[in-house]
Amino acid sequence: MLDRTPQDAFRWPPAPSVAGAAIVPRPSGGGAAGSGGRILGWRDHVLDIERTWLGLERPSWADMIREAGWRRDAAASYCGRCGRTAGGEETLDPCDAPAGEAGCRSCRGRTLAWDRVVRLGEHDGLLRDTVLEVKFSRARGLGHEVGRALGVAIAECIERVRVAMPEIVVVPMPPSRWRRFVRGIDHASVVATGVASELGVGVERWLRRAHRPAQSTLSEASRRRNVAGAMQPTRFGRRRLMDGSAARLVLVVDDVMTTGSTMEEACRRLASVRAGAGEVWACVATAAGPS
Ligand SMILES: [Zn+2]
Repeated sequence: MLDRTPQDAFRWPPAPSVAGAAIVPRPSGGGAAGSGGRILGWRDHVLDIERTWLGLERPSWADMIREAGWRRDAAASYCGRCGRTAGGEETLDPCDAPAGEAGCRSCRGRTLAWDRVVRLGEHDGLLRDTVLEVKFSRARGLGHEVGRALGVAIAECIERVRVAMPEIVVVPMPPSRWRRFVRGIDHASVVATGVASELGVGVERWLRRAHRPAQSTLSEASRRRNVAGAMQPTRFGRRRLMDGSAARLVLVVDDVMTTGSTMEEACRRLASVRAGAGEVWACVATAAGPS
């Protein structure tokens, strides 16, 4: 079941980004003050007992969110075209503005490889720590929870767009076989599974990826060259892309979008084969802050 919050109607001026911000309301009851001045509740004391007496090293993501006071970004706090934080500038959502006028100062008028970006927040604080733990500690359960939260955000966007999407497909950003072997986890696929689970749809692997140096080790200018031509549709993906199904929403899911080069390559590769109408959304746990 989707844990929907009231819809994030577009507002101008946009609200400041809530990524990583402690904005959960304080409980009204009494309680001791925790770190950062937050009032401790009964759940905090239960966690203390679990950690002290039962040796639990890490709380659930739900508890981590609550302790950090984290909330995912409202749709109005980032650009729905490129995914960058609104940062006080004029940002027009793609479903509120004519083509060519939507977006922010960074992306307005630019042709993008996707129709929309959905993100949980900036690559910072709890969210940054979480995606790194998923990737480097093989924390599959945690990745699944991140995916489910992203699924809720996507569901809200689908409601806002109000366009009939009879078919929704979740496509994970592929790793190279070598990188998957070395890391022992396909983290984007884990997040994608959480998204698909929340939306009640399937995950389909439409792309494969040749091994190249990690994007994170390269300068911004080198990333686009590094990933160019690295992705190809799988045989199954090509067949699905060419079946001409109309009004299909394809959700390309990754954990992090920094410069957008990898996401752009994936979406362009899909578009080069795709037949029929529909939209492609770039769905990521974290995206870049202001440029
Ligand atoms: Zn933008």
